Amino acid sequence: MPRPILVTVHGAALRHNLDRARRAALDSRVWAVVKANAYGHGIERVFEHFRAADGFALLDLDEAERVRALGWRGPILLLEGVFEARDLELCSRLGLWHAVHCDAQIDMLAAHKTQVPQRVFLKMNSGMNRLGFAPERFRSAWTRLNALPQVDEISLMTHLSDADGPRGIAHQTEVFERVTQDLPGERSVANSAATLRHAGQTRADWVRPGIMLYGGVPDFPEHDAAHWQLQPAMTLSTRLIGVQTLKAGDTIGYGSSFTAEGPLRIGIAAVGYADGYPRHCTTGTPVLVDGVRTRMVGRVSMDMITVDLTPVPQAGFGSEVTLWGRASAGAELPIDEVARAAGTVGYELMCAVARRVPVAGD
Ligand SMILES: *Cc1c(COP(=O)(O)O)cnc(C)c1O
Repeated sequence: MPRPILVTVHGAALRHNLDRARRAALDSRVWAVVKANAYGHGIERVFEHFRAADGFALLDLDEAERVRALGWRGPILLLEGVFEARDLELCSRLGLWHAVHCDAQIDMLAAHKTQVPQRVFLKMNSGMNRLGFAPERFRSAWTRLNALPQVDEISLMTHLSDADGPRGIAHQTEVFERVTQDLPGERSVANSAATLRHAGQTRADWVRPGIMLYGGVPDFPEHDAAHWQLQPAMTLSTRLIGVQTLKAGDTIGYGSSFTAEGPLRIGIAAVGYADGYPRHCTTGTPVLVDGVRTRMVGRVSMDMITVDLTPVPQAGFGSEVTLWGRASAGAELPIDEVARAAGTVGYELMCAVARRVPVAGD
């Protein structure tokens, strides 16, 4: 028997969330962002459910090849563009659209021998200060690209730093709109947070939702999944493989970081940091046992955690443990809550599920 740990990817939730993104996007077309192996859900597993998207956006050329191998003939966008000159050959062969964010990428295009001109998304650094041309250099980059026979249509994109928070997007969208106002081409600006919180505030031919498609909330804890009508697409579950009964003064696990104040029944669950459950989770992190909410106690080990069975006295060997997502009985534990307890975001937990954890669809 393999260990009882399992990721379940909920197809109906993926379809629901994509539909939710489409409604929030108003008239914009929707890139389903499937980078990082579809935020840890598996590109092959989510593909069928995202067929209604207008295109797939990702970073790895290897992932682009996998999407084409699944039979997708529509647009695929490389969000970081190419990394070396020969990547452009793959773009030609697979018909990939790619971001152009720096001079080195324009140099590579200028030297590229191709029969088929390529569709590019010229990226502006409108304040995020990661990738993209500074506003004052954007137009000269556009002019240079526009003169290349290797380049077909030029679309314009930027990325937002604060769509999920109080600073908002206006400081960036004003720059982007001012610099691009008389340039032709389609625009793409919004991630999940901007799609949900700032719809209609800037012209957008394409939106780029990622986390919301998987049921993660970009602005948790200000809002939760119920507020945005998102459904969790991933459940991480396991089972109890042991039970201990403690008396006052007994301690748990490495470093004896938890001491029982009185009699306490604890369950040992088959999940640890080697599965991607964050070691930063400490006593108090929420967990469901048989669908009942309880808490983790003590430290996360490589292959095990310990949970307080006080609210579930009937639980024992084999009881279902839900680390995040949906229990069989229907109760839900939002990934965002667990992420918060670990001092991180739902994105990281989804992406960090380890390869040794089997994945099933439902
Ligand atoms: C990851 C990514 C997105 C999606 O962001 P979410 O916050 O997951 O919606 C959009 N655009 C770019 C350029 C990205 O890298």
